[in-house]
Amino acid sequence: MTKINNFIDGQWVSPGSGEYAESCNPALASDVITNYPLSGKEDVDRAVAAAARAYPAWRGMPAPRRGEILFRAGELLLRHKQELGKIVTREMGKVLAEGLGDIQEAIDMAFYMAGEGRRMVGETVPSELGDKDAKSIRVPHGVFALITPWNFPVAIPAWKIFTALICGNTAVFKPSSDSPFCATRLVEILEEAGLPPGVLNLVMGSGEDVGEYLALHPQVAGVSFTGSCSVGENLERRVAELHRPIAVEMGGKNAILIMDDANLELALHGVLWGGFGTTGQRCTAASRIIVHNKVYDKFLGMLVPAAKGLRLGDGLKKETDVGPLVNERGMKKVLEYIQIGQEEGAMLNCGGRRAVDGALAKGYFVEPTIFSGVLPEMRIAQEEIFGPVIALMRCTSYEEGISIVNRTRFGLSGAIYTGCADLAARAETDIETGLVYINASTIGAEIQLPFGGFKHSGSGHPEAGGRMGALDFFSRIKVIYRDFSGRLQKAQIDVSPE
Ligand code: NAP
Repeated sequence: MTKINNFIDGQWVSPGSGEYAESCNPALASDVITNYPLSGKEDVDRAVAAAARAYPAWRGMPAPRRGEILFRAGELLLRHKQELGKIVTREMGKVLAEGLGDIQEAIDMAFYMAGEGRRMVGETVPSELGDKDAKSIRVPHGVFALITPWNFPVAIPAWKIFTALICGNTAVFKPSSDSPFCATRLVEILEEAGLPPGVLNLVMGSGEDVGEYLALHPQVAGVSFTGSCSVGENLERRVAELHRPIAVEMGGKNAILIMDDANLELALHGVLWGGFGTTGQRCTAASRIIVHNKVYDKFLGMLVPAAKGLRLGDGLKKETDVGPLVNERGMKKVLEYIQIGQEEGAMLNCGGRRAVDGALAKGYFVEPTIFSGVLPEMRIAQEEIFGPVIALMRCTSYEEGISIVNRTRFGLSGAIYTGCADLAARAETDIETGLVYINASTIGAEIQLPFGGFKHSGSGHPEAGGRMGALDFFSRIKVIYRDFSGRLQKAQIDVSPE
């Protein structure tokens, strides 16, 4: 069995505590993938110090050269895609096609951000005065704390790491304790791509011991966090006191609205993919389905047998449609919510139990579950369950449907299925989420546009690419006026004819 270590100042080093914990396969709990370090404050101190030492040379390296290193990382990710995809599936459970998709997203991000090294666009505008330049440039912040979840164990770290580094920041990366091996392979690839020592450091261990201390560390200049609302909002408050930028991307309770003129077959595929893809463990998972009264019964009649037909199993097996929950805690939480749904009076149409047939008993599997007759205020329609549970609700009009879609504290992703171009266009405005899909499910974002949630789903600093994407968070704008007139010129004063 392998043992992995922290990566500090270009060296793989054991934690100060000397202690390790097991990372296990959620499809087969007895399959221990690796032992990862249980780090503490001293490890974080060393990693932050290494990142701070590496910062001046890294920020001084021309951005196109930094981009070349990211480009090589992209090529290495591509070369190792199959191996890495299998590691993702084995460590956090999603089916292999999705494990490979996780790696592909990291590849896309590497090539995209490598290209940003040759853009890093600022502005040059005319000055109102003669013999004077006016321009803005992007400059880095310093050392970033990057804290990530397990459900996209390579893609989300790639979003953060590649963007932070191309902007000239250095970083300390604290991955989820449920995906330390994925994190280690990603960092190994960046090392092989030629990243100088100290530019990226990896410290593993618990969120409380490592994550919080890192985010609040005096030498850290900024924090980028993806994870649950409870952790993210607490970090936001504490980091704000330090007057330090923090971006948080958090949970969702995403809805699909299906109108009476929708292509129901298409909507069915979207609901199955959005609700049960990644076993419902996506921030953008479609956990609320609002169906027009006129097609509600018909759609329910299509959905239930389709959900019953999904095959649970080890994501590495070709025939598997739905993998396990990430760990026992995740499984128990889902089962608790299923109990809550029944107590609230929703109708359980299928699933609702832990799956224990044969080999499934050795992992953390819950049957794809559908509740119908759900009311918008029920807890199963308001709280993030993060599992294969769909809540079906009725509406009698577009307006009522949209009002249910928006009746949540979250605002990450929303979708509408309709054959009416006008309604589709209205929904683009009416759905109060950072991502809106028309005739497509709530999942499927691409990296060349920003990714981020409204309301309690995010802080308004989106991830990924696009003109208003993550570069704006990971860099600061510096404005430069250069006066070469040789005399005192006064803006707003010299130019006035009066
Ligand atoms: P989590 O429990 O909040 O953990 C996220 C990360 O924060 C992990 O690395 C965790 O470390 C660390 N952490 C835990 N407590 C901390 C603390 N007090 N201070 C600093 N860091 C701490 O979330 P998760 O279970 O990994 O991920 C699932 C959640 O992420 C869901 O709510 C999902 O919706 C959300 N998510 C959002 C997006 C998005 O872009 N909006 C994308 C993916 C997932 P440990 O693992 O060691 O506890």
